[in-house]
Amino acid sequence: MAKKKAAGASSKMVYYFGKTKTEGQGEGKQLLGGKGVNLAEMTRIGLPVPPGFTITTACCDSYYKNGKQLPKGLMDEVNEAVAILEKELDKKFGDDENPLLVSVRSGAAVSMPGMMNTILNLGLNDAATEGLAKATDNPRFAYDAYRRLINMYGDVVMGIDHEEFEHAFDKIKTKYKVDLDTDVPAEGLKELCEAYKAVFKKHGGEDFPQDPIHQLQLAIEAVFGSWNTERAVRYREIENIRGLLGTAVNVQSMVYGNMGDDSGTGVAFTRDPSSGQNKFFGEFLINAQGEDVVAGIRTPLPVIEMKKWNKAVHAELIAIKDKLESHYKDVQDIEFTIEKGKLYMLQTRDGKRTGIAAVKIAVDMVKEGLIDEKTAVLRIPAGDLTQCLLPSFIPAAKKKANVLATGLPASPGAAVGQLAFTAAEAKARAEAGESVLLIRKETSPEDVDGMHAAAGILTSTGGMTSHAAVVARGWGKCCVAGAGDVDINEKTKKITVNGKTYGVGDTLSLDGTSGEVMEGAVDRQEPKLGGDFGTVMEWADKYRTLGVRTNADTPEDSKRARAFGAEGIGLCRTEHMFFEGDRIGHMRAMILATTEEDRRKALAKLLPFQRKDFVGIFTAMKGLPVTVRLLDPPLHEFLPHEKAAQKEMAEALGISTAEVKKRAEQLHEMNPMLGHRGCRLSVTYPEILEMQVTAITEAAIACVNKKVDAKAEIMIPLVGTRAELSMLREKVEATIEATKAAKKFDGELDILIGTMIEIPRAALTADEVAQDADFFSFGTNDLTQMTFGYSRDDINTFLPDYLKQDILHGDPFQSLDTTGVGQLVEMGVKKGRSSKKGLKCGICGEHGGDPASIQFCHEVGLDYVSCSPFRVPIARLAAAQAALKK
Ligand code: ADP
Ligand code: MG
Ligand code: MG
Repeated sequence: MAKKKAAGASSKMVYYFGKTKTEGQGEGKQLLGGKGVNLAEMTRIGLPVPPGFTITTACCDSYYKNGKQLPKGLMDEVNEAVAILEKELDKKFGDDENPLLVSVRSGAAVSMPGMMNTILNLGLNDAATEGLAKATDNPRFAYDAYRRLINMYGDVVMGIDHEEFEHAFDKIKTKYKVDLDTDVPAEGLKELCEAYKAVFKKHGGEDFPQDPIHQLQLAIEAVFGSWNTERAVRYREIENIRGLLGTAVNVQSMVYGNMGDDSGTGVAFTRDPSSGQNKFFGEFLINAQGEDVVAGIRTPLPVIEMKKWNKAVHAELIAIKDKLESHYKDVQDIEFTIEKGKLYMLQTRDGKRTGIAAVKIAVDMVKEGLIDEKTAVLRIPAGDLTQCLLPSFIPAAKKKANVLATGLPASPGAAVGQLAFTAAEAKARAEAGESVLLIRKETSPEDVDGMHAAAGILTSTGGMTSHAAVVARGWGKCCVAGAGDVDINEKTKKITVNGKTYGVGDTLSLDGTSGEVMEGAVDRQEPKLGGDFGTVMEWADKYRTLGVRTNADTPEDSKRARAFGAEGIGLCRTEHMFFEGDRIGHMRAMILATTEEDRRKALAKLLPFQRKDFVGIFTAMKGLPVTVRLLDPPLHEFLPHEKAAQKEMAEALGISTAEVKKRAEQLHEMNPMLGHRGCRLSVTYPEILEMQVTAITEAAIACVNKKVDAKAEIMIPLVGTRAELSMLREKVEATIEATKAAKKFDGELDILIGTMIEIPRAALTADEVAQDADFFSFGTNDLTQMTFGYSRDDINTFLPDYLKQDILHGDPFQSLDTTGVGQLVEMGVKKGRSSKKGLKCGICGEHGGDPASIQFCHEVGLDYVSCSPFRVPIARLAAAQAALKK
């Protein structure tokens, strides 16, 4: 696909949109970028869009492939398109009477807010500026446009530090004794243009180019160049954006929001992207151009205020909003400009939203008849549901809290943390395990790393559509923006608010839903499920075919998971049950024992604990299956390794420290993950298996006697050969029978006996293994570890390099490697079912909660996935999406 498109680029590189013609219908974002596709689409449905043209992403691809040279013939096509534009608008590039000006805008297939460059007012030169002044009868505006161009062009194309221009601007402002940019008179701006040209020459080494086509060519190259800046690359890494050809370039005729008080520019969302409420939500600035809104230079007005300013424009904007929603059938994030009372649309795209908003919007749109249930289910990013499961502040605790300031509720959540004042600091401290809040006047794209790492973000300037707000919402991260009462001093790393000062060691709480900034750590509570969230879950259950279980080892976790909709336990690890309280003592006594008899004595003491745990879990999950895995880790994990702890243990057991030390040394293995663990323990010490199976059986009997429907499944880990399983299966069966006899129980228990498939050999010989298994559960953590030969605990020593160099596209322990490890899973299912028809198969590795892996599990015909309790709702939704995508 990509190949074909790249080849196609040599035929057509430029697509026009405007009154004359609108090309590229049917071409997708892959080729024209999101901005380009939607500019053409808006033109096509009759919205007021300034005409222009789009240079394809394939050109960007070939620019890089050709050693950073524009593809042959591109500038010819560009010149042709410019000629059409000139004719359509009756303006001319570089004209000293009525010049054509354009913006040069980046736009990839996936939106990357603020990551790449835009140049406005291109086409101005000394003569054209005079022309523009004449044509508009507004010299102030003409010089304002020119100084912006020299600045942006200098910054983007020549890499001149923005500060250099700022400095020159400050001098002019001082000279004219004004504070605001907008108060500088025309002659001041004219002087400023001269000063800017001098800055340009000094730092760029050449004169500001006077030939518009030359400007255009270099600007196109600069936009292509911005595709691979460090921050753009880093953004794609964080967002896991891959496989794109590059950015498209949109060249669009300019409209002017800076022509006076009847002009302006703004951005809006057709619904509230934070809560999802169906409320038009936007901001605009009067007499401003371009990114003045997003950059937070002046505080914008809420769009509702537009009614007072220009009623007709407001009404038109509302009508366009409705038209866009019904056309795209989704929330739109729009950019617009008003030139002398006339509204123009400059951009639309699907609006980024929080998980909470995604749920509400999807449910509302089904109610409004805009989309159907299936579309709604497919549209909510499954992973974003976590945000609906996040804690919130306890209202009573909030009432008591000391609210220091209230900013804008930019992105919901309840964040508690200590203060960090730079992105780098936030990142470092978060990595060290601290919960930090990133405190900035305003964030910029350079800050994304630290923003990502922080628990919450607080800014003192900037609106609901500022960089901080947009990016935080995209990630579902708590953000309070524009809290103007918070005075930030980056140098001293202190904030002053409400007369008090707080520094790096202090803790604050941020409520992203109300915008409140509170002193100290305010208590939080678990979320309430139901409402729209419940509706989405109902729909998901209606469409999915894959079962969803949970991994849980305690009655509390089991209950929580059940409340989240788990249909059973796919993995109950028993080793965690041996650490609590007295248990570890008996466990250690068992390990230290030198005879089978002593081992049995110690195990007998553990049995009642295990039985009690199982009764609790079976009861919590009554009626639903519970897969219990027999002891899995190597025994040395239960022994202390430091001298002092060994001594303490020896005293507790009434033996010598030397003995403890000796046994610990005996158990030491060079490579414990491939050592004496899993079913190998049961082969050597069958009494451990006996104790565990007895506990499970007795618990099941106890439940049946209480009329609790216990559905136990016993899972034998780390099997690599059928012989291991058949031998241990016999032992399990014999123990169940013996226990039933001892308890004089003659009812049915229906305990299934199965195995984990986590060693490649078991997958390869699954047809044999299946003959002794009632079920398979793919343990994809170990299976990944053994298939790649990567130690799960050590992978971080080399994974970053592997990701950077594109050897791996992600951490295979987080998202299943479907091409490699996935083949083993698929083969295991096929072979297993070839010898045992309808063999029940599930997955219990971490992958069971990862949407992409769930898609794969659905495709290879697993019966269920099992994941941690908090991921159960995500898995339900992802399973439905997998079923609907087919
Ligand atoms: P980004 O991708 O960073 O949002 P854009 O290409 O959308 O960058 O440009 C940023 C802003 O510049 C737009 O929101 C708009 O206000 C302004 N702009 C871009 N092109 C034009 C144009 N042709 N006329 C007027 N303003 C423009
Ligand atoms: Mg934009
Ligand atoms: Mg394992």
